[in-house]
Amino acid sequence: MQRIELPDGVQRIIGRLESAGFEAYAVGGCVRDSLLGRTPEDWDITSSARPEELKGLFKRTVDTGIQHGTVTVLIGGGEGGERAQAFEVTSYRVDGEYKDGRHPESVRFTPSLSEDLSRRDFTINAMAYNEKSGIVDLFQGMEDLERGEIRAVGEAELRFREDALRMLRALRFSAQLRFRIAPGTLEAVRSLARGLSRVSKERIREELTKLLLSDNPEQMELVFQTGLAPYVSEHFPEIASPSLPELSGDMEREAFLRWGMLLRGREQLAKRILRELKMDRATIDRAGSIAALHGERIPEEAPEARRLLSRYGEELFFSWLSMEEALALHFPREREAPLSGERRQGKIRRARALGEEILKNGDCLSLSALMVNGEDLAELGIPRGPEYSAVLRALLSEVLEDPKRNRREYLRKRVKEIRGLAH
Ligand code: ATP
Ligand code: MG
Repeated sequence: MQRIELPDGVQRIIGRLESAGFEAYAVGGCVRDSLLGRTPEDWDITSSARPEELKGLFKRTVDTGIQHGTVTVLIGGGEGGERAQAFEVTSYRVDGEYKDGRHPESVRFTPSLSEDLSRRDFTINAMAYNEKSGIVDLFQGMEDLERGEIRAVGEAELRFREDALRMLRALRFSAQLRFRIAPGTLEAVRSLARGLSRVSKERIREELTKLLLSDNPEQMELVFQTGLAPYVSEHFPEIASPSLPELSGDMEREAFLRWGMLLRGREQLAKRILRELKMDRATIDRAGSIAALHGERIPEEAPEARRLLSRYGEELFFSWLSMEEALALHFPREREAPLSGERRQGKIRRARALGEEILKNGDCLSLSALMVNGEDLAELGIPRGPEYSAVLRALLSEVLEDPKRNRREYLRKRVKEIRGLAH
């Protein structure tokens, strides 16, 4: 019998439920990942105990999604100084009718594990495990794991009609696991793609972000090939498809970077799409900057590097270079011939060294690091206002050219000269 090493906390929760006369299993993603030799993100437990019964058996619980039968159980911690661990325990349930293709109208608790497993999306996600019973696999999930296939539990069309998000989940798992989507399941995605329009932008965004952060982000192509793209967001189909195969799993796993890379060279489009997907402000801004930076030249001299560092900040500067390096490595750009991929990489490495040198030297990169302040300017007859900001920006630009200019006397002299010219 195939065994899975359950974490201590999971073991204890299952043990306590069993002692109280209930069934309990690790289920879903954690079983799938364990069998694949991957580290599960989290461990979910499914049990024949109802939420109230669950809560009666454990001292510390949180009602995470009590209406769907999900309770978070906190276990461990306390004496030894170790931290408590949290596990989601869900009562066996069947989803009621999905009227909107989004939420079940209701859920019904059931004493049957087999019913609980049959509501799950894909065969590889519908396996349960505990020490007593071993792996419970009612839908040939193991076979599909071995074959490397994502297959809907039951009839794919029906399952996608119930919850259209499952179509994107199929693509996401295929990118994460490098699995292909079973022909019938893929066909159902193609024919029901339109149904994605009923799914909330937040849920779509979460799945696409997971897809992009996977080892195979180029699988984003499937979103276009299956016809899902127009229902992701209005402007999504404008993403040029040649940019997709160039997405690489070698890049840093940062959402803003991968979204920026997907939308590189299209800053406005990037922001529009991410706003439609209700992405958080910081990620929209940073992804937009990465998209914009793709149009910049790789700096070869310190002043250029300082200007970019000043404009975009340290984090974006280096993330951008890592993106360009991944691109140069896999796809030497023809339009830059005769600059081969290798030579471009060398250029990028020198730019990175240049950036590091600049930071090490502590060169002035921002208005606030200029060696003149508001008082100096007031004394020279420039009160705060539009002229004040323009003068400071002019000074910063000179200092970015040559950091040795960041001295008070020099800058004061320059202010007088600038004003002399202006008046
Ligand atoms: P991850 O590694 O992303 O956590 P996961 O398989 O654990 O992957 P979750 O979204 O955490 O995915 O869901 C846990 C389990 O719940 C899934 O394995 C699946 O059995 C079931 N599930 C989740 N979402 C759906 C859905 N939309 N339709 C049907 N079953 C679902
Ligand atoms: Mg999970």
